[in-house]
Amino acid sequence: MDSDILNGLFRPKSVAVVGASSQAGKIGHTVVDNLLKSNYKGKIYPINPKADEILGLKVYTSIKDVPGPVDAAAITIPAKYVKAAVIECGEKGVKGLMIISSGFSEVGEIELENEIVEIAHSFGMRVLGPNIVGVLSNSDSLNASFAPFLPLPGKSSLVSQSGALLIAMDASTYTRRIGFDKLISIGNMSDVSFADTVEWLDSDENTSCISLYVEGLKEGRRFMEISKKAHKPIIALKSGVSEHGAAAAASHTGSLAGAAKVYGSAFFQAGVVEASDLDNLFDRGLALSLQPPLKGDNLLILTNGGGVGVLATDAAEKNGLPLHFAPAELQTELKKHMPSFGSAKNPVDITGMASTDWYVDSFKAAFAHPWVDGVVILFCETATSDPQGIAEGIKQAVIDSGIKDKPVAISYVGGERSDSAMRWLSENGIPAYGAPDVALNVMAALRESALMKEYSAEKIIPAKNIQRDKALKIINDARADGRENLTEVEAKSIFDAYGLPVTNHRLARDEAEAVKYAEEIGYPIVMKIVSPDILHKSDAGGVKVNIKDADGIREAYKTITGNCKSYKPDADVHGVLIQEMAPWGTEVIIGSVNDATFGPTVMFGLGGIFVEVLKDVTFRVAPIAKGQAHRMFGEIKGAPILAGVRGESPRDQDRLAEILSLYSQMVLDLEEEISETDANPVLVYEEGAGLKVVDARIILKAK
Ligand code: ADP
Ligand code: MG
Repeated sequence: MDSDILNGLFRPKSVAVVGASSQAGKIGHTVVDNLLKSNYKGKIYPINPKADEILGLKVYTSIKDVPGPVDAAAITIPAKYVKAAVIECGEKGVKGLMIISSGFSEVGEIELENEIVEIAHSFGMRVLGPNIVGVLSNSDSLNASFAPFLPLPGKSSLVSQSGALLIAMDASTYTRRIGFDKLISIGNMSDVSFADTVEWLDSDENTSCISLYVEGLKEGRRFMEISKKAHKPIIALKSGVSEHGAAAAASHTGSLAGAAKVYGSAFFQAGVVEASDLDNLFDRGLALSLQPPLKGDNLLILTNGGGVGVLATDAAEKNGLPLHFAPAELQTELKKHMPSFGSAKNPVDITGMASTDWYVDSFKAAFAHPWVDGVVILFCETATSDPQGIAEGIKQAVIDSGIKDKPVAISYVGGERSDSAMRWLSENGIPAYGAPDVALNVMAALRESALMKEYSAEKIIPAKNIQRDKALKIINDARADGRENLTEVEAKSIFDAYGLPVTNHRLARDEAEAVKYAEEIGYPIVMKIVSPDILHKSDAGGVKVNIKDADGIREAYKTITGNCKSYKPDADVHGVLIQEMAPWGTEVIIGSVNDATFGPTVMFGLGGIFVEVLKDVTFRVAPIAKGQAHRMFGEIKGAPILAGVRGESPRDQDRLAEILSLYSQMVLDLEEEISETDANPVLVYEEGAGLKVVDARIILKAK
């Protein structure tokens, strides 16, 4: 990233408005007017060959006539004239283009858009947009947009893919009393992407939290890399589920990989906190912008009302932050600041008689205690209490404590006095909310933020002794055969080349061979049809398990070939697979798809009805480390089965995690070749006994 160029775009010292107009109501007029109204201190250069003066400013015929340097050019002219204007901007030495004009890729004019980016790059310029509202920055008194005014000032900056939503959110900062420093409209993302804005905002001194409204990312992996490296918290509201999941899916995994699931995993892996809706984006963003992450699970709730205390306790659990009782010595200390009928456990209930002093003193004791990782203060307005006094007392106590690594959030339930105290709190660095569950939800965001950083720090242990060439040869042979569907035999050979434990087998071409191989491998035996035209072998009657002798082999050979002949008469049958029968184990499914946005992903779930009916699966963007794979187990509803239920011993989760990591490295390593894979089922045994892949499927990318 060229930060000087992006500085020119987001914090320009001079702005030219190409297409400035003297006619009120035109965007080219509004942008000039907004720059003036926002009190912009830089130079404003209206460009228009047909005007002399707009809103008291001298107008230039061409940007090339502007006497001084121009950092940013806001382009408001119709799409068909933009190309010529971009060339002039390049010749002038402009750094960044804010192309407000629409009529590009959003209406199918992709080539024109690409051409403009190419021209811009050839001059070293970057392009924001096209099809944007513009850029707004409180700290620079810059409203280079057609949104009517700067947002309420705040410490978060927002990047929005939707222009209309950006304008609406701008206005709603005043009613919500939650502000932003910058609003950046990113439009068609022809050049400047979410990744670029995250990287730039991470180094912006006036932004402490990066908020994103995302409809779709263009460079998923780059976004993840940059977000992972960012020092500031990032929160994203993702809307819309792309079409890609609907594409005809040949593998099981393909049909299960909804875009929303993959996005959720990618955000998690990249350390991006998710917002569930617009309100949540504001609320969580406020907390993330004002408070440090919650580094442990010991959250203490301080309340003057039992009701809000219980609501908060419920919300804590719902948000994955179940409360723990405070240690005895802290309880003893807290007891000093409440009447005898109060409770010091957690929530700490200092009762409806609570005075400002009680609030402040018990807060001080709790906040300073090493057991406490963070505090939520709840307040029910009473006739005698002083909401503003409590607010100021808490704020002062936080300052006096000198503690900077424990978050505090507040919820007041009450009327106007409470509202104004909350406004004061949020303006003074302590996020305050009108409902206790919101305070808990934002604490959960602060916890997620800390946990995700730990999670993404784990290093991947690279797989050893990989036989990549062997895998590529199998792939190339299948391609030479005109196929994209690999047979189980081919898929298992590739898995084997990456060190995954697969069953032994030999391919028989007649009954005699079948018997011979069965004796070599040893009974019991599983027999399966091998045909690139039969993907779901059981459906074709192409699988027989638990065959115990030579007669059984001969009979199964006839049945399987007969069944498949009637199922698909023209199927190209390679033979019948004679396979070792793996002992019974817990069936799981491992799979992968090449996601349109994030590339190779790995999926995990329990087999059978869990995957067929409940679609109980979880995804990660590949590759993943072993500990990261372990975390996936907890995300499926069937998780207790792996841990051992009803007298069953726990499964070998350690080995399973290793295998998932290995699998993720395989699909990434073969990214150019492989589209989808399944290991379905994988049989997982007791701890120490490992696992076995008994069925494998690979579908190649079409080339
Ligand atoms: P498909 O999914 O194409 O129908 P599979 O190879 O998965 O075919 O076989 C169907 C089922 O047979 C599996 O889900 C598994 O329960 C069982 N099975 C297949 N191969 C073996 C094996 N080698 N050992 C034990 N059970 C097996
Ligand atoms: Mg199968």
